Amino acid sequence: MQRAPEYWRNQRIYLQLIGSKCKDCGKVYFPPRQYCSNCGSRNLEEYKLPEKGKLLAWTIVRSPSREFEEYAPYVLGYIELDDGTRIIAQITDVELNELKSGMRLRAVIRKGFVEEDSGIIRYIYKFVPEE
Ligand SMILES: [Zn+2]
Repeated sequence: MQRAPEYWRNQRIYLQLIGSKCKDCGKVYFPPRQYCSNCGSRNLEEYKLPEKGKLLAWTIVRSPSREFEEYAPYVLGYIELDDGTRIIAQITDVELNELKSGMRLRAVIRKGFVEEDSGIIRYIYKFVPEE
C-alpha cells in the first residue's frame, strides 16, 4: 500500500500533468524524473505540460488489467502535446470511427478506477477531442 504523501504527490503529478524539464539540455519527462537520461544531468525542474495536443497513433485495449476492465475496450493514444512532448494516455468520449491521426485533443480529469482494498476512487487524466 502506498504511503499517503506519495499518494498525494502522484495525484498532483497525474492530475495536473506535471513533468520535469532538464535545465541543461531542455529535455522534458513525464512522469517526472530526478535524472536526465539524455545528458546525464541531475539539474531538473518541475514543468507543467500543456493540456492540449494532437493524436499521433492509437491502439484499442480489449484485455486491460483488472482495474480498467469496466472501460474495455478503450483507446490508448500516443499524443504529441503542444510543446512537442509525447505521452501515452487513455482517450475517451470518442467513437472509434472518429479517430484520426492529427486530431486535436485536450486533457480532462476523469474517474479512473476504484482501489480494491480501500475503496478509494482514483482519478486520472484522459484525453477527449477538442471541440
Ligand atoms: Zn538533460
